[in-house]
Amino acid sequence: MASFYEKTVHTTPIFQGRIISLQVERVELPNGKTSTREVVKHPGAVAVMPFTNDGRMVVVRQFRKPLEKEIFEIPAGKLEKGEDPALCALRELEEETGYSAQNLQLVTSFYTSPGFADELLYIFEATDLKQGSVRPDADEFVETRLISLEEGLKLMETREIHDAKTVFALMYWQNKRLKARLGE
Ligand SMILES: [Mg+2]
Repeated sequence: MASFYEKTVHTTPIFQGRIISLQVERVELPNGKTSTREVVKHPGAVAVMPFTNDGRMVVVRQFRKPLEKEIFEIPAGKLEKGEDPALCALRELEEETGYSAQNLQLVTSFYTSPGFADELLYIFEATDLKQGSVRPDADEFVETRLISLEEGLKLMETREIHDAKTVFALMYWQNKRLKARLGE
């Protein structure tokens, strides 16, 4: 298989923020020509699909500044440096929704935006939930809602669910439902 590797010949740091950094990389293409890539470095993140015993999923509604709108999402948060993704998932779930989980399983991980960012998202399934009290960050305003799969699919249709991890969660849930029906 041909290698499409792009060797960085020069890196220009543009911005170093609290969470992300942006750099422009001059790269050598497989055909010997050069080009530039705008790259965002991100510490990585976790997301949780929290399923209640009565067959619903916990989502949070919050305003997302880059989108200038409110959407429903599964609970999520960024990783602290060196933090264990599972511990981060349990913490974010509890802070944002008040629920703690007795059971947590890693489902998969995926890159959220490989065209310009290295953000890797670990996605967990949480069950055996216990309700507690919400403790969002000082700058985080969130509202919790329990949804059925059918409600989730409707919210996706109306673009009130409109981000990749939550769409993944709905597809995962639908697939799980299907497998259960087929008795697999
Ligand atoms: Mg969050």
